[in-house]
Amino acid sequence: MENKDIATPSRTRELLNKYGFNFKKSLGQNFLVDVNIIQKIIDASEIDATTGVIEIGPGMGSLTEQLAKRAQRVMAFEIDQRLIPILNDSLSAYSNVNIINEDILKADIAHYIQEYLSHCERIMVVANLPYYITTPILLNLMQRSLPVDGYVVMMQKEVGERLNAQVGTKAYGSLSIVAQYYTETSKVLTVPTTVFMPPPNVESIVVKLMQRPHPEVAVDDEETFFKVTRGAFTQRRKTIYNNYQSLFVDGKKHKKVIAAWLEAANIDFSRRGETLSINEFEQLYSELKNFPELEI
Ligand code: SAM
Repeated sequence: MENKDIATPSRTRELLNKYGFNFKKSLGQNFLVDVNIIQKIIDASEIDATTGVIEIGPGMGSLTEQLAKRAQRVMAFEIDQRLIPILNDSLSAYSNVNIINEDILKADIAHYIQEYLSHCERIMVVANLPYYITTPILLNLMQRSLPVDGYVVMMQKEVGERLNAQVGTKAYGSLSIVAQYYTETSKVLTVPTTVFMPPPNVESIVVKLMQRPHPEVAVDDEETFFKVTRGAFTQRRKTIYNNYQSLFVDGKKHKKVIAAWLEAANIDFSRRGETLSINEFEQLYSELKNFPELEI
């Protein structure tokens, strides 16, 4: 029997020709044309008939189609209006898919979860992300306290490595800490450029992030906590003592106070941000209230 999967070069080409579609690089349009990779992504997400899926950027529906076969319902946000009639055509056989023509960074996701996924037992975000906005998308989703159980997402390899980095490694930074704060991360697989049409210029990786029941450390003001973590990495080669002089208002004038704050938190002032664990950042954060001179 003829292979009808959208995620094949022949079917993708057929749809491109039928609709005269041309890829927009500026929207990160690299479509998957390999069903095996898609199956691995879906297996890692442990999707079953009780799972609701949020997909970001369905493209022509290659991943969406396979998700629809396994999940209870799939809602997919696609910014490119030209893809909507194509998706309505390519996915016409699936009644459990909702396509939403909106920018994922602006959409009221909580409202759509309520509307389409409220009957699902668990909710997973599964996507081949538009790489140019991977970080804003993930931060935006994680920081909104949505009822999401986890994420299995494909992205540029370097970003995936940062999300999944251990303390003390080159890739470790403020993004690793945000990910660790909200989720437990693991690498699923690396993906060759050959499974995309057109092939991207960068290597890809699939990362799994499972939401923790409670954040890894207890902080009452997340915004300040993340300013403290980001502030340690402003210039990676510099010590935290130097970097923190740029974080605080009149930081250079408050060198002594900064040194006293670091000492109170038991953090040697000559250390670099990449050596600090999330628990050490939490110590810095909780000591901050004893140093009112240090204003962010
Ligand atoms: N899922 C498809 C696949 O794997 O073949 C397409 C993935 S492609 C890497 C990324 C998709 O995200 C494109 O379809 C693009 O138009 C869409 N996109 C880009 N920016 C977006 C945004 N801000 N909100 C929603 N979708 C977006």
